[in-house]
Amino acid sequence: MSGFQMTIGGAAAPTEGNFGVINPATGEVFAEAPQCSRAQLDAAFDAAHKAYASWSQDLDARRAALLKVADVLFANAEQIAATLTAEQGKPLADATIEVFGSGVWCQYFANLELAPQVIQDDDTAFVEVHRRPIGVVAAITPWNFPLLLGFWKIAPALLAGNTMVLKPSPYTPLSTLQIGELLAEALPEGVLNTISGGDELGAWMTSHPVPRKVSFTGSIATGKKVAASAAPDLKRVTLELGGNDPAIVLDDADPAVVARAIFAGAFANNGQVCSAIKRVYVPEALHDDIVDALVACAEAVTVGDGTDPTSKLGPINNGPQFERVKGLVADAISGGARAATGGKAIDRPGYFFEPTIVDGALDGSALVDEEQFGPALPIITYSNLESAIERANGTHYGLSGSVWSADVQRAEQVAGRLECGTAWVNTHLALGPSQPFGGFKWSGVGIENGPWGLSEFTEVQALYRSRTSDGLNPTSAANLVS
Ligand code: NAD
Repeated sequence: MSGFQMTIGGAAAPTEGNFGVINPATGEVFAEAPQCSRAQLDAAFDAAHKAYASWSQDLDARRAALLKVADVLFANAEQIAATLTAEQGKPLADATIEVFGSGVWCQYFANLELAPQVIQDDDTAFVEVHRRPIGVVAAITPWNFPLLLGFWKIAPALLAGNTMVLKPSPYTPLSTLQIGELLAEALPEGVLNTISGGDELGAWMTSHPVPRKVSFTGSIATGKKVAASAAPDLKRVTLELGGNDPAIVLDDADPAVVARAIFAGAFANNGQVCSAIKRVYVPEALHDDIVDALVACAEAVTVGDGTDPTSKLGPINNGPQFERVKGLVADAISGGARAATGGKAIDRPGYFFEPTIVDGALDGSALVDEEQFGPALPIITYSNLESAIERANGTHYGLSGSVWSADVQRAEQVAGRLECGTAWVNTHLALGPSQPFGGFKWSGVGIENGPWGLSEFTEVQALYRSRTSDGLNPTSAANLVS
């Protein structure tokens, strides 16, 4: 047993069944997580529904509660980070940053404006546009940043007045269950319910009649299923899905300057970031220098157990993903590319893979065309910038991208032509709570973060107060009776 239980209606909800959680640094089951039953899912939505009536009424109380949530996260960061590292694999320092980041997100939303907007104030009427909560939210998260991506939903959804049932990935359920327990003191019962189970639990959530909104982060394939499942009763959906981010290096870039930042943008969280750099387009003239500089970065990085303070990269999170990354690299190499460094699993228990730079990868190979979501970066040569932009855009993905150059204005022009939700110049993965984040094309529907992300957890209500003595509106109804 992990000792962590589901939290439903503010109380621990013991289960009959459990499932094993693997530590990716060992490949061994180290804890059990509760398996939510259908009846418990009903109870969780019921609790969220009951809590909604009062939670949705008091904005000041919600702001205060979110600040309290942040304090609880900060005060318990060490224990939560230890759980996160054990189940996810990331180094403790990164896990701690994820916990603190989650608190920062709560603080940001706790202070975000939610005032009505006056659009008419004259003799005829006073008209205000309000943002009303939607109701109960079903929130589903992936395994790469279980906490932070959870709080990208919790903070705006709760601030807007919604209540929530949150399900993490079965690969990383424990840290979410832990925060559910810790926050039972900070939030009224039923406002945030944390449950765990397999993929089928996610499908039960999206087809359940109570939630009015599904906020989902995960793969494109699952996102399409979520959209289909939410459609029959017209639940609102936000889908944050996969990416295959291109980085385009322009011919005036200095390889020594850009390579370190490109490496960081590609290998953060061991490449398991939706908006990590997943393919690099380099001009022929810079090819050798960029490859050499990236190889030097890859060979300098320490890979190891996340509990070892010298580790900068941990293992890949889970067995299927480990096999996928291995397969994609092997496939690229059999297609004529070469591993300039790395290229294989590290010979030790767990899901460790060498940081890999794949040179000479071709468009059309799966490593370039699909999302690898792991520590293997293909370098693709171009001779013509127009064709590089076309190839960068020539996929169903559209999460983010970056352009690298000594000439910022030139880079900005190219970045503006990328078909993606975030276009960076001379950096990658710069994100913050006030910055909108979302995907073009198959990379998503809707936005998270900033006022845009808050809006996604609201319905728009126009509140029209007539000021005419007879209640007839001179621009429409009055014409019918004159
Ligand atoms: P996944 O789609 O396999 O699973 C995500 C979540 O969905 C898990 O909690 C899973 O249990 C649940 N799920 C599975 N089947 C479901 C169904 N039919 N209905 C409802 N829920 C279901 O994704 P993953 O492997 O956990 O995460 C990796 C993917 O997530 C990558 O593609 C990555 O790019 C993407 N991602 C996107 C963002 C973003 O903000 N755009 C952020 C992080 C990760």
